[in-house]
Amino acid sequence: MAFEMDFEDIRRSPATTPSVDLGYSRQSFAAVSVAEFIRHLGYHAIPMGNDTALSIPLAVNAGLGELGRNGLLITPQFGPRVRLSKVFTDLPLETDKPIDIGVQSFCEVCRKCAKHCPAQAISHGDRTANKLTRSTNPGVLKWPVNPEKCIKWWMKNGTWCANCIRVCCYNKPNTRFWHLMHKIALRLVSRKSKMLNKLLVWIDDNLMNC
Ligand code: SF4
Ligand code: SF4
Repeated sequence: MAFEMDFEDIRRSPATTPSVDLGYSRQSFAAVSVAEFIRHLGYHAIPMGNDTALSIPLAVNAGLGELGRNGLLITPQFGPRVRLSKVFTDLPLETDKPIDIGVQSFCEVCRKCAKHCPAQAISHGDRTANKLTRSTNPGVLKWPVNPEKCIKWWMKNGTWCANCIRVCCYNKPNTRFWHLMHKIALRLVSRKSKMLNKLLVWIDDNLMNC
């Protein structure tokens, strides 16, 4: 399950962004409620936030979005501006499939999150399945993030940071106008053209930078 965080609030990063706390509260409330409902149906259900299992790979497999260069889930609706929770259950359900909205090929030409990461914890290079730090889950082709560098920056900053959400081209305001712009951009990105993607990054940098 993915829960949107407030666009204007995230714009304050790297200052404190309370919508992150609110997101954690909403995701917990929803996961516990869904689990309780499932239990009332007579099945087992375990609600979880960031604990017990990695949320992003599960969300990718569930078709909620794709993995971005920033190491976050990029959803078609809100980009990486979401928090995730999940419920393990034996309730028989129809499963969704992973989606391909062109994120991986777009991230190959866009390096905005890497450029704007104050800790330089995000890769500027190509995807790899190799281990980067002791926190890397190797064996999956991705841009491994350096969480040790990230958390050190948080300590120095005195609060967390959401720059890799704030600057992402997929993070746009939740308004009618931006929905339309975003929809057009998603269509263009789905063509997976390097030149077109470069142009979109340029447009995002120069005209639509939020
Ligand atoms: S949270 Fe901030 S420091 Fe950490 S990876 Fe994202 S941009 Fe970099
Ligand atoms: S900022 Fe660019 S490179 Fe980073 S995750 Fe978003 S789209 Fe991908």
